Amino acid sequence: MNSDPDCIFCKIVKGDIPSEKLLEDSASLAFMDIGPVAPGHALLIPRNHFSTVDEMDPETAGQVLANLPRLVSAIKGATECEGVNVLQNNGSVAGQLVGHVHFHIIPRNTRDRFEFNWPADKYQEGQIGLLAGKIRGLL
Ligand code: 5GP
Ligand code: ZN
Repeated sequence: MNSDPDCIFCKIVKGDIPSEKLLEDSASLAFMDIGPVAPGHALLIPRNHFSTVDEMDPETAGQVLANLPRLVSAIKGATECEGVNVLQNNGSVAGQLVGHVHFHIIPRNTRDRFEFNWPADKYQEGQIGLLAGKIRGLL
């Protein structure tokens, strides 16, 4: 078990901080977010401490994310929301406040209060292929 004594979500995994749990298995825990963007907002986390998603081993990532479909389904059923965002922030620049990997499951409804800015842009000529090649080279 990889646990960080200073990490709030590790403390939740250990039961040192109470949480409203939704499901748990050997690799994963899901619980209600204490500061919900919408009622039913939940967090799915690995039990082991990883700061960001790229630190995770594929087996753990697979085990944790295997819970996503039924968790989303249950949250949709319980809240009767119209849609769901699954969000995952890595690094403070990306909005990560808690340094333990977590997937937000956020119920969405028409005219809810949640907004995000999605400034879709265009690539310069040839830029998309160059960048894709660079990424492929690092996979
Ligand atoms: P981040 O900004 O890191 O992606 O999101 C962290 C989330 O953790 C926030 O939505 C925040 O409300 C939630 N959170 C922070 N501390 C606690 C806590 O002690 N208990 C629970 N249940 N959620 C927490
Ligand atoms: Zn942790």
